[in-house]
Amino acid sequence: VPEGSRSDWLARALGRAGVMPRADAEQAIREGRVEVDGRVEREPFAPVLAGSVVRVDGTLRSLEARTLALMFHKPAGVVVHGSDPEGIGTVFERLRPVLPPELRGYEWYAVGRLDRDTTGLLLFTNEERLVAHATSPETHVPKRYVADVEGRPSEAALQRLREGVALDDGPTRPAGARLLAPGRVELVLTEGRHHQVKRMLAAVGHPVRTLHREAVGTLVLDVPEGTCRPLTDAEIQQGL
Ligand code: URA
Repeated sequence: VPEGSRSDWLARALGRAGVMPRADAEQAIREGRVEVDGRVEREPFAPVLAGSVVRVDGTLRSLEARTLALMFHKPAGVVVHGSDPEGIGTVFERLRPVLPPELRGYEWYAVGRLDRDTTGLLLFTNEERLVAHATSPETHVPKRYVADVEGRPSEAALQRLREGVALDDGPTRPAGARLLAPGRVELVLTEGRHHQVKRMLAAVGHPVRTLHREAVGTLVLDVPEGTCRPLTDAEIQQGL
């Protein structure tokens, strides 16, 4: 995400550009490892322009603010808060130890929520404003869930899920629904209201036993439970 030519503090600019976390950047600057426009700069709060030529350990680095994102395979039993790096029992407690070195030290924001007992694909980004966009009611990114339910949903029940179910907070948008196995339903929603999958399936007579999210937009979960991986720039462009 280009930031134009506005100025920023050197350490913060390096953090925003995804070169290294801001705290590491401050240290690198103080150690004399950072050059701005050909001169060593030892002041982390020195102003820089987006167009400044910056080298870290001799390597040219772009100061364009860079969006970082990752997919995490959320285990059951952890709560998702938007951003709470110190929280106990939260998803951040599980995420932090499995972050690859290049993703450590940033502030991460969860993109949307999963219930405590729901497993599966959860996205994180360092760009807080992307979260607001991705989770806005106007953004209809399809999210694919697999639910194990009580009973065996009939074709009529699946049709109700597809056409829209009347919930307390209004009818649901058209959805994808199919039976994967007796008692196992795939649901594709283009909205994300609180407990929506559970409420929809309960409304058609098949309460959810376990719920798993497999995909968000074009991003399909492909890491083992409790682990994460960075998204590529192409995935971020398409998926966030
Ligand atoms: N719908 C739910 O009911 N729970 C989730 O965690 C996600 C979608």
